[in-house]
Amino acid sequence: MVRENCGVVGILAPPGGNAVPAAIDSLRALQHRGQEAWGIAVPGREPLRRLGLVSESSRDFKKIAAEYHSPAVIGHVRYSTMGGSSLENAQPLRVADLCVAHNGTISDAAELSNLVGGCTFTPQSSSDTLVAASRLVSLMSSGGGMGRALSLLRNEMAGSYCFTFISDDGSVYAARDPRGFRPMVLGRRAADGAHMVASESSALAAVGAELVRDVRPGELLRLSGSGVDSEMFAPGEKTAHCSFEFTYFAHPSSRMEGTNVYVARKQIGRLLAKKFPLDDADLVIPVPDSARPAALGYAQELGLSFDEGLLKDRYSKKGPLRSFIEPHQTDRVEINRWIIPIREIIEGRHVVVIDDSLVRGTSSRAIIKALRRAGARRISMLVTYPPIRHPCYAGIDFPSREELAAHAADGMDEAGATEVVRRHIGADFLGYNDAANLAAAVGMPADSMCFTCSNGDYGALGVAPALKSGGPGGGA
Ligand code: SF4
Repeated sequence: MVRENCGVVGILAPPGGNAVPAAIDSLRALQHRGQEAWGIAVPGREPLRRLGLVSESSRDFKKIAAEYHSPAVIGHVRYSTMGGSSLENAQPLRVADLCVAHNGTISDAAELSNLVGGCTFTPQSSSDTLVAASRLVSLMSSGGGMGRALSLLRNEMAGSYCFTFISDDGSVYAARDPRGFRPMVLGRRAADGAHMVASESSALAAVGAELVRDVRPGELLRLSGSGVDSEMFAPGEKTAHCSFEFTYFAHPSSRMEGTNVYVARKQIGRLLAKKFPLDDADLVIPVPDSARPAALGYAQELGLSFDEGLLKDRYSKKGPLRSFIEPHQTDRVEINRWIIPIREIIEGRHVVVIDDSLVRGTSSRAIIKALRRAGARRISMLVTYPPIRHPCYAGIDFPSREELAAHAADGMDEAGATEVVRRHIGADFLGYNDAANLAAAVGMPADSMCFTCSNGDYGALGVAPALKSGGPGGGA
């Protein structure tokens, strides 16, 4: 199945304005959410879709802005781990007079495709987004508008979804799933009165727009010349905000559910220091980049030195380096090679190295080895996310259960399981954060967040997933 965890935007500028340059800039600010492909759609045209980073098309930006000139636009950046990085899987996608961009995973796409005439869902090659959009369009054709269609579709469709839509009549819509798995925000640019939705507020800031509020779980927004209309297509469900967004996926400058991600990560580090006060350490270092604020918070809480003992070689490859979301194993191995220890900082020291997550353990093992080669006396690894033991079916494509480092220790108590992983990665000490600590740092009740990949409770998803085994997948 093609799985999406991506970034979406939707902009409506005043009549006569051109929202395309702002869409391109906002997609660049969401590039951390997907680096395989990007695209935009305006009313009445086939979507423009390109492979690679947005910036790789920079030579064409002027031409694209002129050719697709429109006050209404939606956009998408994509990452997936199955289905290939081909242009046909890039978004937005067109279905009849509607174009759609999707962030999330439709967990029951195969079943849903049975309800869509003429739409055959083929695992490995088809898009769950196309199935969902086709069903939505068919429900809309029976009357009642998009809100009614979504309220019907939500009973048929399980999984996570933040959609932006654009119709050929120039309307821009945004919808967030009833559990609010993936983030989505509403913004406004005072300079020209443009309204905007995006996966994260980093996309708003990139184009001079202000954050108005989070899009509510179960809410449909319609951006129009007269403002923003809101309709709840699934009111009052218990939320399941993805906790992994706060430790890894989201941009540190973004504000989600009332919390700035950088501040939350720093607080995670402070609370991790209370849980594991390794105050005999000489030095705290982050695994770049997502764990940096947590490492700083940890060091500040215990009065320890903070330093950059590991650097990413940013110059041998164009574009961002994020080992988790690179789709191919070879790419991940390459990225590990680009994390370089600084011997002069490490040698002879007890180093506390803070990482955002431990998925397969491949990166952690490579990092521990590199730190040993650089002469570290003792290496303690602390992980800001709880042990990942189960696959995600709500938009983050972890590898199969068997490939998860913590899965090997299934059935053991916490101490035993941690010991198995510690030996696997070769650290002298390993400590994981827990859900209560993470939720407290973010400032949300733990039961309003999703921790399924750690606790295996798939209740919030609304469907019992067919657990993956074998095959390729993302993972650090
Ligand atoms: S299973 Fe994990 S990664 Fe997936 S939505 Fe839940 S918390 Fe996020």
